[in-house]
Amino acid sequence: FRYWETNKVKTTCSYCGVGCQMDLLVKDNKVVEVQPSDKGLANNGLLCVKGKFGYRFIDHKDRLKTPLIKKEGKFVEATWDEAYDLIASKIKVAKEEFGPDSIAGFSSARCTNEENYLFQKLFRGVISTNNVDHCARLCHASTVAGLATTLGSGAMTNSNFEVLNSEVIFVTGSNTTETHPVIGSHIKQALKRGAKLIVAEPRRIDLAVHSDIFLQITPGTNVALFNGLMNVIIDENLQDKEYIEKNTENYDELVSVMKDYTPERVAEICGIDAEDIRKAARMYASVDKASIFYSMGVTQHSTGTQGVMSISNLALLCGNIGKESAGVNPLRGQNNVQGACDMGALPGDLPGYQKVANPDVINKFQKAWGVELSNKVGLTVTEVMTKGSEGDLKVLYVMGENPMLSDPDINHVKEALEKIDFVVVQDIFLTETAELADVVLPAASFAEKEGTFTNTERRIQRVRKAIDCIGNSKPDWEILMTLMNKLGYDKVYSNASEIMDEIASVTPSYGGISFDRIDQEGLQWPCPDKDHPGTKFLHKDGKFSRGKGLFKPADYIKSAESADKDYPYILTTGRMLYHYHTATMTKRVEGINRLFPHSYMEIHPTTANRLGLEDGSKAKVSSRRGEIITTVTITDKVEEDVVFMPFHFADGAVNYLTNSVVDPTAKIPEFKVSAVKIERI
Ligand code: SF4
Repeated sequence: FRYWETNKVKTTCSYCGVGCQMDLLVKDNKVVEVQPSDKGLANNGLLCVKGKFGYRFIDHKDRLKTPLIKKEGKFVEATWDEAYDLIASKIKVAKEEFGPDSIAGFSSARCTNEENYLFQKLFRGVISTNNVDHCARLCHASTVAGLATTLGSGAMTNSNFEVLNSEVIFVTGSNTTETHPVIGSHIKQALKRGAKLIVAEPRRIDLAVHSDIFLQITPGTNVALFNGLMNVIIDENLQDKEYIEKNTENYDELVSVMKDYTPERVAEICGIDAEDIRKAARMYASVDKASIFYSMGVTQHSTGTQGVMSISNLALLCGNIGKESAGVNPLRGQNNVQGACDMGALPGDLPGYQKVANPDVINKFQKAWGVELSNKVGLTVTEVMTKGSEGDLKVLYVMGENPMLSDPDINHVKEALEKIDFVVVQDIFLTETAELADVVLPAASFAEKEGTFTNTERRIQRVRKAIDCIGNSKPDWEILMTLMNKLGYDKVYSNASEIMDEIASVTPSYGGISFDRIDQEGLQWPCPDKDHPGTKFLHKDGKFSRGKGLFKPADYIKSAESADKDYPYILTTGRMLYHYHTATMTKRVEGINRLFPHSYMEIHPTTANRLGLEDGSKAKVSSRRGEIITTVTITDKVEEDVVFMPFHFADGAVNYLTNSVVDPTAKIPEFKVSAVKIERI
């Protein structure tokens, strides 16, 4: 093609939470190339391999093009009206016979803010249940619970670019250069400017190679490590006493709990050197601007909330909150997981984290929407699967999620989906979950619709339509609106901008957001009114929405499973640069998929030798929940008693093995620690 014959449409990347701004080059209703956009406050002209080359899924031959209804075990093509009528009638019958709480829905971190808003409105306002959740339950539910408790807000405190001026960067539980590549690149630029880097991870990831101190911790020992760092800081008088006195509460309890976490004790728990703990603590506490970046290595534990609160304790202890280039920065995985949470795709929260248990909030939304609302907190993703497997759930509506690969203990997920009477999946491809559905609705991709995504730094940015919908697919918001209308709620929206106006009217932190205002550049929430410039970093001048910053010390508790004689290795899971989530999109991008088409397991050379495994050979990996066959990759990135697998792949899907035990507060599963045995085949 010739460049001058293409149209350029600026939009937001549909992969990770960095939220890179990009131009889609369009010719003859086809995206033919992607370029970084000139103006992009989230990425400043950088794109990673997925953003730049991962667009070929958009018009892939596998795209769903028409509604499908399962008849006698086989999908047959249907009209939209047939599909809508069937879904509406199943919802009505379930509601009448078993009550609204027999129906549940999973909203989507891949869909726009406007779509997430309508999804939870459909469930709360039309079906009358708060059984609405999404995959944040599996990635950052412990962040939302932990940081909301200690700081009053569960969001990333600072902005992507501020890391360039951090003096010390502490990365823990995040393989940043692979999972958030543009932020990983900013971290490397900061190192060139003289910043120091501490990395705490079970694997020797890329950033570990560039670090000043690398703490290769045993999976599941985060809380002990963070406590050990605080023990040294308090013991050596390195804390910011003025900040603590002025801006925090519960410091005495923190001091009392941290006393027991001497570097020697922590070194033994974490499998690292006590002197390295001292050095890391001194390095973190020695500068004015130290930032912490973390992700699912901290959150996906049965003690995930304690891990998050311990990070917050550490930052408060050194006054590293409420200023530029510092802060607590939980990196959101999917493009719009921050927005899906903001929009109330959570069982206890209406948009803007307004609680369903608060009568004033319920009154406000009843008035705004003109409907009766339930104040009973709904079911989480993990609870839906339990209720489903017990036969107590009648309808499940899944928009843009793929629990058959993404959730722990897939055998249990499959049992639940098979027992639920009626399952609807709305997606762009026939996913592993859609194959088990009764009705499948073809949705439009990000390139075919208008809307907004909110990235990991709370920046609300535009998504723009570049091409017509593929086949007979429709934007998710249009599908949801039609279904609401079929179920008797007659509000009609003519475009996504109107939905954002409604969001702004009921969500204080989005009060100043409109499509006009974010046309050129995004705005970061809180943005309470039309004159507000947005908020670059949170908790300035010690002002927390909860009042003071709260120290919430936690003791180290072992993971639910440990290695034993039957299952002698610890399996930990994660993501890789080239694939995204359950790979529904990236496996359909030929160039990317050719590089990594199948699942694999990283294993230490000594362990592989002991088990008779060779690089590239097949191995059977089993846990108490299931077994898989995968390909062996021998590497000393992992320790001898630990193996690592990415979760993207359907063949050898690692979540057949993972533990569905959950953090009791956030209900997030313990993906990061499962005991397994490995056999040569
Ligand atoms: Fe897209 Fe994330 Fe890559 Fe940016 S860093 S191009 S948002 S996948």
